[in-house]
Amino acid sequence: VRKPNVVILGAGYGGLMTTVRLQKLIGVNEANITLVNKHDYHYETTWLHEASAGTLHHDRVRYPIADVIDRNKVKFIKDTVTKIAPNEKKVLLENGELEYDYLVIALGFESETFGIKGLKEYAFSIANVNAARQIREHIEYQFATYNVEEEKKDERLTIVVGGAGFTGIEFLGELVNRIPELCREYDIDPNKVRIICVEAAPTVLPGFDPELVEYAVSQLERKGVEFKIGTAIKECTPDGIIVAKGDEVEEIKAGTVVWAAGVRGSSVLEQSGFETMRSRIKVDPFLRAPGYEDIFVVGDCALIINEETNRPYPPTAQIAMQEGQLCAKNLAVLIRGQGELESFKPDIKGTVCSLGHDDAIGVVFGKKLWGTKASFMKKVIDNRALYLIGGSSLVMKKGKFKFF
Ligand code: FAD
Repeated sequence: VRKPNVVILGAGYGGLMTTVRLQKLIGVNEANITLVNKHDYHYETTWLHEASAGTLHHDRVRYPIADVIDRNKVKFIKDTVTKIAPNEKKVLLENGELEYDYLVIALGFESETFGIKGLKEYAFSIANVNAARQIREHIEYQFATYNVEEEKKDERLTIVVGGAGFTGIEFLGELVNRIPELCREYDIDPNKVRIICVEAAPTVLPGFDPELVEYAVSQLERKGVEFKIGTAIKECTPDGIIVAKGDEVEEIKAGTVVWAAGVRGSSVLEQSGFETMRSRIKVDPFLRAPGYEDIFVVGDCALIINEETNRPYPPTAQIAMQEGQLCAKNLAVLIRGQGELESFKPDIKGTVCSLGHDDAIGVVFGKKLWGTKASFMKKVIDNRALYLIGGSSLVMKKGKFKFF
């Protein structure tokens, strides 16, 4: 009998979890598993704000995919997916094409700029390892340049963060720890540095417990962050941003603008003709693309509505990994032609938002946490993600053990 071809696109949380679970569930003779990813390494997306601020080296946030896959069962291809042709059951890569019987789409997220002028061209976004490295280098270059310039441009030392959601706040938490180091390294008066967070919504971290939000804001303000809430970015220019609050329009000159206020699914989905909302496919209860019994979608490319709130679940690593686990089980059912497909029910254990390496806020198992306790919990969560994919050896290699 011909073995079915299972092709998994993307080795982020969703795709890699699907792969490592599936390789455990099925035997060598049951299917050909192929994993495709742009790079030969996996990165912890949830740690990228640290690499971007420069508080954690970029090599700490990534590891070789070869370390966690069973090469007897999984063939790895380093390539970029350009298009999916679902009716021909084919995937087009930059350097070739693949045929599949079952496909898993786990291509992750891209920055969503909501059409705001200039953001794509002039703002950075915390999107992957290389983008994080560029942000770190760019900020450092601004600081290094400042002192050697004849005519000092104070705006070089202004950093604007667009968005006070989860990513924006976590990035600010790292920045406020990194800036004093940079000031020492480059002989810069800390009073010259401005860190400004611009958020269009009426509150920081919408949806988070208000008491914890207040704690986060006061901690960040104490370390120098200026919040401009209820203020929308209208345009980004080579010199900074233009914001508006009601009728008041203001220009803020800034050497660095980081956009952290929105994500969408991979543009490959739209280009492939799938019906999407912000490039995310609304999946059926078994995580399949509507109309295609052979295509699963996991992670930030999948859209699932929370029945209780009637709103989509936010795209998180926590959900991506749970989807990967279920997707592997459902694939095994289809490959074997026996058993029943299971439907997806997210089990949200909590959310912890870091405020630097030694502070955080969160709600875990319904309990509110802040300060060192929350920060400890954050590291437990980070290590658990490594454990679920690569076991204790990966935790030993890449884990976070400096707790306070
Ligand atoms: P990703 O992890 O983004 O992986 C996608 C993979 O596909 C990557 O390896 C990429 O290289 C590859 N790829 C992309 N396009 C192509 C292509 N065309 N061809 C080949 N390969 C491709 N979530 C939480 O639960 N908790 C947190 O604390 C948290 N913190 C976050 C902090 C930051 C700074 C950010 C940016 C996100 C955070 N998130 C957090 C969200 C979380 O990171 C995402 O929800 C999660 O990464 C989604 O997983 P994924 O598998 O869908 O995609």
